[in-house]
Amino acid sequence: MNDTAPVQGLRTEVVVIGGGIAGTATAYFLAKAGVPVMLFEKGRIAGEQSSRNWGWVRKQGRDAREIPAIIESLRLWQTLEKELEADLGWRQAGVTYVAHTDAEMARFESWVDKARDYQLDTRLLSSAETDTHLKQSGRRWKGSMYTPSDGRAEPKKVVPAMARAAVKRGVRVFTNCAVRTVETAAGRVSGVVTERGSVKCQTVICAGGAWTRMFCRNLGIDVPQLGVTASVLRTTAAPLITESAVSCGGVTFRRREDGGYTVAGRGAIRFDLVPDALRQLRAFMPGYLMARKHMKLRLSGTFLRAIKTPSRWTADEVTPFEQTRTLDPKPDTAVLERTMARFRTLYPAMQDVGIAEMWGGFIEATPDAVPVMCEADEPRGLFVATGFSGHGFGMGPGAGLLMSELVQRGDARVDITPFHLSRFRNGVRPEPYAFI
Ligand SMILES: Cc1cc2nc3c(=O)[nH]c(=O)nc-3n(C[C@H](O)[C@H](O)[C@H](O)COP(=O)(O)OP(=O)(O)OC[C@H]3O[C@@H](n4cnc5c(N)ncnc54)[C@H](O)[C@@H]3O)c2cc1C
Repeated sequence: MNDTAPVQGLRTEVVVIGGGIAGTATAYFLAKAGVPVMLFEKGRIAGEQSSRNWGWVRKQGRDAREIPAIIESLRLWQTLEKELEADLGWRQAGVTYVAHTDAEMARFESWVDKARDYQLDTRLLSSAETDTHLKQSGRRWKGSMYTPSDGRAEPKKVVPAMARAAVKRGVRVFTNCAVRTVETAAGRVSGVVTERGSVKCQTVICAGGAWTRMFCRNLGIDVPQLGVTASVLRTTAAPLITESAVSCGGVTFRRREDGGYTVAGRGAIRFDLVPDALRQLRAFMPGYLMARKHMKLRLSGTFLRAIKTPSRWTADEVTPFEQTRTLDPKPDTAVLERTMARFRTLYPAMQDVGIAEMWGGFIEATPDAVPVMCEADEPRGLFVATGFSGHGFGMGPGAGLLMSELVQRGDARVDITPFHLSRFRNGVRPEPYAFI
């Protein structure tokens, strides 16, 4: 990995933009298949969403369009530590969603019905079974949905390990090096211009997370995408409640390898209004209405900053990607304190457990909360992998494998046509199954 070397005049077959889980996994699987790859990351590997997430790896509760791809991803997770020769903190310890109302329980029932088509091991637990499963008492909940084969991993470990393994397989990784734009010849990709010079290549994969819309817009490609800020905390070492990742009573938590819990909660999502939200109002309205109970809408300085951020640039101009190396939003500490208090109410054993760290993470989403994984219509040779909508960590290895196949042979082992950008065209507005 290199964060200072000049790149002017280099040549490769594929350039990957973005060193999050989507870009790094794609680079890894391409290199594994023998394809020459360079990866460019404007900041550090996994500096944004891919190291800040909760670490849940789940099939449970997903949009049906994603299920075949997440099944593939889970298959990869099971042997990823061996494949990458690294400890990733992977545990196949299940995911549990607790229902507070009959309506929620009914929604879980209908999802379990759907899951049967894919022979998933998701099952419903009664109120009493939920108490036993979560070591609670009082039968406060209507019941729960539980998928034992879902899991968790340590976000801070996963992508750096994947990047090291990619380098071993021949990927050249350039950190602290933003890609400014794509060069074309006769309607095809011919290279990229980075802040440290131009690189010739035939294929570009834009896996730029929250920056993808901006990058593609400069090329005349519309990728519908907006973002919210989420706040997360980790506790000091805590007694073991359950190994399963859990969403219960407005608190979500999962066991960490360091003996604490990663915790987040209701109200920990902030939506700072930006001009782009107004432009995409119709597309995102269904998602917003679905999620607004858990989201704080705010008009802040972000609006003005967004107005001042250029939306077009040429290859010799400094771009927004160089101006913000790493998105590092401030967490909402008051909300996190309240979340921790709620966690302690749910589990009195947490009484003496403290907060070790709080952080913020910017989550990007598409209007239907399902990713975009496809080749752009124009220029040929430009691929996009983004819009993982708050659940791309689990999907990451699978997304990388599927993107690597798409690039090499034009299709993938599972049907990824539902992830094509064209689903948003011609006035069609696909709606989310669940938003963020
Ligand atoms: C708080 C939080 C909790 C979450 N919880 C979960 C969870 O439990 N389970 C789950 O599955 N998912 C979860 N997610 C979502 C998950 O983290 C993301 O979907 C996933 O990490 C997206 O990966 P990515 O590679 O697409 O994007 P990112 O990780 O954001 O990576 C994109 C990278 O591209 C780089 N980049 C952008 N533009 C350029 C450019 N022009 N040149 C060079 N580099 C560029 C950026 O610097 C960035 O590093 C959560 C996210 C957050 C923030």
